[in-house]
Amino acid sequence: MSQAQEILREVFGYAGFRGPQAAIVEHVSQGGDALVLMPTGGGKSLCYQVPAILRQRTGHGVTLVVSPLIALMHDQVGALHEAGVEAAFLNSSLSGEEAAAVERRLMRGEITLLYAAPERVTTPRFVAQLESLHERGKLALFAIDEAHCVSQWGHDFRPEYRALALLHERWPDVPRIALTATADALTREDIVERLQLQQARQFVSSFDRPNIAYTIVEKRDAFPQLLRFIEAEHAGEAGIVYCQSRKRVEEVAAALSKAGMRALPYHAGMDAAQRQENQDRFLREDGIVMAATIAFGMGIDKPDVRFVAHLDMPKNIEGYYQETGRAGRDGLPAAAWMAYGLQDVVNQRRMIDESPAAEEFKQVMRGKLDALLALAEATDCRRVRLLAYFGEASQPCGNCDNCLSPPEVWDGTEAARMLLSTIYRVQQASGISFGAGHIMDILRGKATEKVAQHGHDRLSTFGIGAAFSEAQLRGVLRQLIATGALAVDASAYNTLQLTEGSRAVLRGGVQVQLREAVSQGRTRTRTRRG
Ligand code: ADP
Ligand code: ZN
Repeated sequence: MSQAQEILREVFGYAGFRGPQAAIVEHVSQGGDALVLMPTGGGKSLCYQVPAILRQRTGHGVTLVVSPLIALMHDQVGALHEAGVEAAFLNSSLSGEEAAAVERRLMRGEITLLYAAPERVTTPRFVAQLESLHERGKLALFAIDEAHCVSQWGHDFRPEYRALALLHERWPDVPRIALTATADALTREDIVERLQLQQARQFVSSFDRPNIAYTIVEKRDAFPQLLRFIEAEHAGEAGIVYCQSRKRVEEVAAALSKAGMRALPYHAGMDAAQRQENQDRFLREDGIVMAATIAFGMGIDKPDVRFVAHLDMPKNIEGYYQETGRAGRDGLPAAAWMAYGLQDVVNQRRMIDESPAAEEFKQVMRGKLDALLALAEATDCRRVRLLAYFGEASQPCGNCDNCLSPPEVWDGTEAARMLLSTIYRVQQASGISFGAGHIMDILRGKATEKVAQHGHDRLSTFGIGAAFSEAQLRGVLRQLIATGALAVDASAYNTLQLTEGSRAVLRGGVQVQLREAVSQGRTRTRTRRG
């Protein structure tokens, strides 16, 4: 038996390594650099803990683990202590005295794994201590957890992570392992570049979470839809409901409680003690539903979360994957449910447009939003789409909403053309643009006051789309916005603007395929998916 396997058995009590763990542990133990991309729950911690113990035993000294999450540091250090491993952490939760005690132990070589927050690692004081350890050959390994935090393309950019390049610049002979559960191509490239991991071996695991069943529904009346989902499939079970705003979190927690569930709120605007208490209850008690902003969940390891619901659409697929990934870590069946609507798309667009970021950045963010929207609008297997986004090919899963009940699709090309030409004619006639509601009113021939006031009932497109329901037209608009064939100008009352991409649709060069909304009026061309 290898030394690594012995450690795995003796210290951790596990029979064998999982998936790529063995290869990673061997590579890193021998002093190689590694970039590990593994989904949440895949077992990333052992990938550096086993090499750390092994290298300590062979006289190489301490492993420094950089982690942004105080709660996670506590948990891991606690678990390592129980397993008899000398571990400690340095972060803002320690008093000056406690921190000094840890530092003394560190310098005496008594610590095998030292967890530290990124901002701590690059202080002159700590760098001097590392230097001193290095001089004595007692710096065994750098482990950089949640490595996507170094990238602004990741979902959790932390500027302090950028300074971690210093570790490699200063002590290039110390091996490094960077780990993340976020692996889209852009973020991955960025991690490699920012942390100078060009020479590191990459270990990419499958991102499939086969026990999670994905469902994405169109928002009509979001809260009752959520309630039906929970009551029908997850009554009494633990779950997380992600909401866009703090206010919404409070409302949803209250409404769920009123509906008889044990629901709690969690968001960054709450009093810290209350927030902690809610989190503790969620972890400790059974069947709590947490209504939360995305501030909740990172580093929380509750194995029996049975569902994760998104009442509003997240920013991108990475966020969606991370958040839904908190369901079913125990491997038992779990559900990911999301409701999305046109308003979500408009809101997200606006947040991007109005952010002070550089145009290049905004462009990337828009692309990511579009990819998520494409997933939401997809009529084929969700899992195939999701994994394809992470560069993984797969077969239809038979377990998502689209696989279980293939949606009817309809050809929205004609409706799309009508919408765009209405926008064009309105712009020509009035010299200004209008929002989605007004454009749909014109197309459907609704003689509202606003329509009359602007004389838009005299446009040639007035009423030509009367056969389409509003739900259908909203679907078409979402699709057009998602594919860039239409833009929403947030700086001008969310008016709709034609784009370069509109032309191709107007000319008839682009087909617009849409999912059929479940309950609505007349439909044009109906085709059942084969
Ligand atoms: P990640 O950090 O990738 O989300 P963790 O390192 O927290 O995952 O591991 C997830 C769970 O799987 C933990 O409970 C861990 O103890 C368990 N685990 C990891 N590797 C193994 C293994 N080789 N054998 C058994 N259990 C494992
Ligand atoms: Zn599927």
